[in-house]
Amino acid sequence: MLTNKKTKIVATLGPACSTRETIKDMIDAGVNVFRVNFSHADYEDVKEKINIIRGLNKEFGYTTAILGDLQGPKLRVGVMEEGVVVHDGDLITFTTAEDILGTAKKVFMKYKNFPNDVNPGERILLDDGKLIFEIVETDKKSEVVARVIQGGELKSKKGVNLPNTKISLPAMTEKDIEDAIFAIGQNVDWIALSFVKTPRDLQDLQELIAEHSEYKIPIVAKIEMPEALENIDKIVAYCDALMVARGDLGVELPAHEVPLVQKELIRRAKTARIPVIVATQMMETMITSLTPTRAEVNDVANSVMDGADAVMLSGETATGNYPVQVIQKMTQIIEAVEDSPLIQVPQNTPQIKTKRFITKTICHHAATMANVIKAKAICTLTNSGYTAFQISAWRPNAHILVFTSNERILTQLNLLWGVKSFMYTKDVSTDDTVTDVNEIVKQKGFVQKGDFLINLAAMPIKDKGMVNTLRVSEIE
Ligand code: PGA
Ligand code: MN
Repeated sequence: MLTNKKTKIVATLGPACSTRETIKDMIDAGVNVFRVNFSHADYEDVKEKINIIRGLNKEFGYTTAILGDLQGPKLRVGVMEEGVVVHDGDLITFTTAEDILGTAKKVFMKYKNFPNDVNPGERILLDDGKLIFEIVETDKKSEVVARVIQGGELKSKKGVNLPNTKISLPAMTEKDIEDAIFAIGQNVDWIALSFVKTPRDLQDLQELIAEHSEYKIPIVAKIEMPEALENIDKIVAYCDALMVARGDLGVELPAHEVPLVQKELIRRAKTARIPVIVATQMMETMITSLTPTRAEVNDVANSVMDGADAVMLSGETATGNYPVQVIQKMTQIIEAVEDSPLIQVPQNTPQIKTKRFITKTICHHAATMANVIKAKAICTLTNSGYTAFQISAWRPNAHILVFTSNERILTQLNLLWGVKSFMYTKDVSTDDTVTDVNEIVKQKGFVQKGDFLINLAAMPIKDKGMVNTLRVSEIE
């Protein structure tokens, strides 16, 4: 039996969740979306996992979604000798000329333009900021000399952040384009783009999707660069969801600035009525321990309190020892706080009269009315999923039950807060559909005799147009 929580859980796939049994247990414990992290993905393996998930969806009536997460222009060092340690004050050369085996003196940097982009005085952060270097000089061609500010073990292929440098890489590398085309071919429900800086980055991905897919695949913009924060107003207009990617964000910015940025990004997403995922190190201790720290429990709870629509796990489920237990714990934390009246979402009533104004207004009032009359469910029929986004954004107390004949929408919507979707293929009159849908939700136990229920519909129904009608029924 699936849980009834409204806040969604995104779990990263990896070797720790490779069997059908583990994946099923994770879904039963509360996973709504599985993330394929293309930083570490093998296509054959990804295909196999996707097949397992889709197979489970079919067999058990789940609507588990799949999110393909593109690595983006993540900089990395090359392969290192075993056990290289650098000490404060040491000088080290980063070279882009050849892919050498790295030592404490010289390291390969996998980014051709690196010497040209950086300047003396700027910082190089390695391995999530565990190691810090300051640039002493660059020949602007192939070599950069840097001084160690904070030493430590320098391991193979670790990620590099350049918080003070303007990087000239496009948002999508050749690898990302290849990964995106593969993900599109696998019909993933969502695609995330890492290190987004400008709306242009998102448009590039939109164009790539349009070229390779008949369906519009919604995009998650991962916010992990200071430049993305500067452009956030435009970015929200060009994506379908945000991710507060705290891992890289906390290296690009001082980590102590991340909590407030998290709150601001959540608020920004909520006013744009798009979902927002909070990610990274939420239950980190549970990679190796069955007990999360009090700080982690508070972090998950506070993210939900901030208004996160979904919370994400990375290493905890990809490589951790307890991929199922961590979901159980996270579900418990979510359930303990998500109904709190202390959670406030901005009530910015739709005002601009765009072509969706009628639908937006109906959804807003459906959510408000559902709270006032204590309706148990809001049911909507959708082809595009649009009404599900709009209702979810207002956070009604009622169940948000979405009926669609589109298999792709069915799973895509599982990222949205509070939304449960069901296959519905009958093509009958509005009257019949409402009666039929109400009977289905009664049978499923969401409502009982005497409960109020709100139905949204597009009339006339045969036009499959935009929602323009709200009906209140009392269940008989
Ligand atoms: P990543 O993104 O795990 O793909 O790096 C999340 C983050 O940076 O927090
Ligand atoms: Mn990241």
